[in-house]
Amino acid sequence: MGVGYPLDIVVCSALGADMYDCVYPTRTARFGTALIPEGVLKLTHKAMASDERPIDSTCMCMVCKNYTRAYIHHLVTKDSMGSQLLSYHNLSYMMRLSEGLHTSIVEGRFPEFVQGFLSIQFPKGDVPVWVCNAMEVAGVDISSCCAPFQTA
Ligand SMILES: [Zn+2]
Repeated sequence: MGVGYPLDIVVCSALGADMYDCVYPTRTARFGTALIPEGVLKLTHKAMASDERPIDSTCMCMVCKNYTRAYIHHLVTKDSMGSQLLSYHNLSYMMRLSEGLHTSIVEGRFPEFVQGFLSIQFPKGDVPVWVCNAMEVAGVDISSCCAPFQTA
């Protein structure tokens, strides 16, 4: 309970957890933040005011199909409908993440799913040490998406 960041859910799933409950997707939406495969997107940022793209071009949710970042930017700064649309998208993102986790386990390709998730979240290979340690304990090889070990 309380585990709700996408990265935490992927790591905890590797360690055997299979049930989560957290306000994060809707609470962060109320602060104007969208969950995307690369991490988070702050719709309150000035650059969003003229961005005509959907929140996430890979997302098939109703919000991403019908609204631009610019439209949602103008809403989140003035009207609660903005956070409602972001909540819808964020919950859709979490459902897609959960479905991807589940399917990868059923199909016996969980390590590949984790590697794909981490390579998008950390394209420079700067996966946090605690994630690398947890995956080692879980027996999931993520060396392909971690920066080489450095000694000081
Ligand atoms: Zn969406």
